[in-house]
Amino acid sequence: MKIGIPKEIKNNESRVGMTPAGVLELTKLGHDVYIQSIAGDSSGFDDEDYHVAGAKVLPTIDRVYEIADMIVKVKEPIEQEYDLIREDQIIFTYFHFASNQRLTEAMLRSKSICIAYETVENESGALPLLTPMSEVAGRMAIQQGAKYLEKPVKGKGLLLGGVPGVPPGKVLVLGAGTVGIQAAKMAAGLGAQVTVLDVNMDRLRYVNDIMPSHVVTEFSNEYNIRKHIKTSDLIIGGVLITGAKAPKLITRAMLKEMQSGTVIVDVAVDQGGCIETTRPTTHEEPAYIIDEIVHYCVANMPGAVPHTSTIALTNVTLPYVLKLAENGWKKACDEDKSLEKGLNIISGKIVYDPILEAFDWKE
Ligand code: NAD
Repeated sequence: MKIGIPKEIKNNESRVGMTPAGVLELTKLGHDVYIQSIAGDSSGFDDEDYHVAGAKVLPTIDRVYEIADMIVKVKEPIEQEYDLIREDQIIFTYFHFASNQRLTEAMLRSKSICIAYETVENESGALPLLTPMSEVAGRMAIQQGAKYLEKPVKGKGLLLGGVPGVPPGKVLVLGAGTVGIQAAKMAAGLGAQVTVLDVNMDRLRYVNDIMPSHVVTEFSNEYNIRKHIKTSDLIIGGVLITGAKAPKLITRAMLKEMQSGTVIVDVAVDQGGCIETTRPTTHEEPAYIIDEIVHYCVANMPGAVPHTSTIALTNVTLPYVLKLAENGWKKACDEDKSLEKGLNIISGKIVYDPILEAFDWKE
């Protein structure tokens, strides 16, 4: 199969759809891979790396779309790409159709085969192509939180790990899912005192089993949240109720109960955030202050570490890319029910019900 990897052109997106390691796996099997020149530069992979792995480097995005049977990328196509997409072409990427009607209509018109990373789902209901980005964001939350605790950026002026003779900082993690566990692990590694709250006892049992003893778990309720925010230095928001807006666990009034310079990193910002005062920010201006509390609410945290994020993404997408390349989309989806869940649009028809529900479209 001919596989195309265009350069991402969405604002602030530095990741690329495939690493040279992924390209090598495809070319070894006899597939042709075409990558747009400098597509991997921001992720730390140059044209020569791709060339050595067997890819052909093309000068323009138009050429990549023109030649490829399957496009592998990161973000949803943007307007400039709509007319480049052809009938029967497979597009394998994050789409998030339900929040973008124009994109949905454009892909319907294109009659392409749209397989969305975010709806590939395994038997246990887990979303394997979303997990690595939550892992990146969870780990990064502590790195950013520690930074914003510094005085020049209006934090408490506190070193999270402490030093001999000075106690470490206190970290409160809301949610013991992928984000929460990775955040707790990083905070614990720095030596911070960590408390993890969740409403799911199985998650708390798991955290309790795997974490060192300076990570403690408690049930998530208003009483416990109010108790902890008074003394926490860094609060991580990592809650998710699938398919719904995040619950507001910390209200604006509660900010008054916190110490000045406390830092909130609300990773759940992409679902509305679990803090009432959360609003989405960007890497250009990641933080703002309300009632002397620093808020970091970047909606696309993995975008700041494209090298790590691109490798983490290819690690999980590649097995599916290989199946699609070897078998074509029909056979690949027939044989792999997780991948089949990723089918959103087939040749001008929506096959993933939540999209129809999102736009109130009936068929
Ligand atoms: P997850 O499903 O693995 O974990 C969510 C956890 O929240 C679950 O354990 C759930 O039981 C818990 N929870 C639900 N209600 C709760 C409550 N009231 N109190 C405490 N815990 C509660 O989800 P995840 O992969 O960890 O993702 C968390 C959020 O981070 C999602 O909104 C996701 O979209 C977001 N995210 C953001 C970025 C970013 O760049 N900002 C990147 C990746 C993920």
